Amino acid sequence: MKIRAAVLEEFGKPLVVQDVDLAGPKSGEVLVRLHACGVCHTDLYTASGADPTGYAPAVLGHEGAGVVEAVGEGVTLVRPGDHVVTLFAPECGTCLHCLSPRTNRCLAIRDEQGQGHLPDGTVRLSRGSEPIRHFMGTSTFAEATVMPEIALAKIDPAASLAGACIFACGLSTGLGATMYTSQVERGATVAVFGCGLVGLGAIAGARLQGAERIIAVDLAEGRLAMARAHGATDTLLGGPDVVQAIRDLTGGYGADYTFEATGNVHVMRQAVEAAREAWGLATMIGVAGKGETLDIVPRYLITGRRVAGSSFGGVKGRTQVPLLVDRWLAGEIDVESLLSHHIRLDDVNHAFDLMEAQDGIRSIIHFD
Ligand SMILES: [Zn+2]
Ligand SMILES: [Zn+2]
Repeated sequence: MKIRAAVLEEFGKPLVVQDVDLAGPKSGEVLVRLHACGVCHTDLYTASGADPTGYAPAVLGHEGAGVVEAVGEGVTLVRPGDHVVTLFAPECGTCLHCLSPRTNRCLAIRDEQGQGHLPDGTVRLSRGSEPIRHFMGTSTFAEATVMPEIALAKIDPAASLAGACIFACGLSTGLGATMYTSQVERGATVAVFGCGLVGLGAIAGARLQGAERIIAVDLAEGRLAMARAHGATDTLLGGPDVVQAIRDLTGGYGADYTFEATGNVHVMRQAVEAAREAWGLATMIGVAGKGETLDIVPRYLITGRRVAGSSFGGVKGRTQVPLLVDRWLAGEIDVESLLSHHIRLDDVNHAFDLMEAQDGIRSIIHFD
């Protein structure tokens, strides 16, 4: 079938929206008609050429939500008509990592996915005789996509797909970091550095976990106001004095849990230093630039602070994304306030401009 899709032709150049061919689903694969897709920093990072593992031509996009249109042979996990969120981090349910409650790092298809292929080593995207690679196993800047069934989370059809799509990456990453990776407990003190979609998700997650004090840090007053609306009890403008300010707000100790959601390695260091002596846990969520390293004075660790990292918030996608969506439907998460711009696929490059200008929290592409 012919679909409209946004193709990364050349690094550092705008994406080109065009007609491409999408082949039908093979064994274990599913054809999804996309209704909405968020535009995430990782799409921009890859389009810019900064990601050393990037490749072109490829159809970008990984924050999609849609409806199953057809399934390939042997598919049992979803059926036509199901509402689904796309997962760049699949959940096979049977590998060593899927069987462990400690991680969401499914081992099933990562090698082929990393090369832009579906699990059988081939692609479904092309134009004429030229193959086009898939991005993050998802390629959701398109009217439709073909994905492995283990990379789709079936959600309650009562959820609007325009809101559901941000559970495919940014929002679940923030929520999950507090709920699954760090497991913030009731009464805890929390500090969140960076109040974009991921940081706001972490703030909402800390609130849902019952944290008593949630300190939000950002450089923009507008984002700090958003942070308060999502559950922050205190807000601080970022800067060199912020570690001391967090200690002052927590009885001199630092926060039980800190989260870094900017990707800036200097802020990561502050997140470590703002974690409480004796048991503070600093969780790195933001993606640092190529070759950058995190500086930690070892004394901070010897005296009891710990450092963790979180990818997709530690969320096991197929089983836990539907639970997060249910909490939105129960009125516990204000998803609508996070959807700041609603655009068409043809305007995807404008969404990148908005992101670089830090205008809004998330731009959502609508396909219908
Ligand atoms: Zn993303
Ligand atoms: Zn697995």
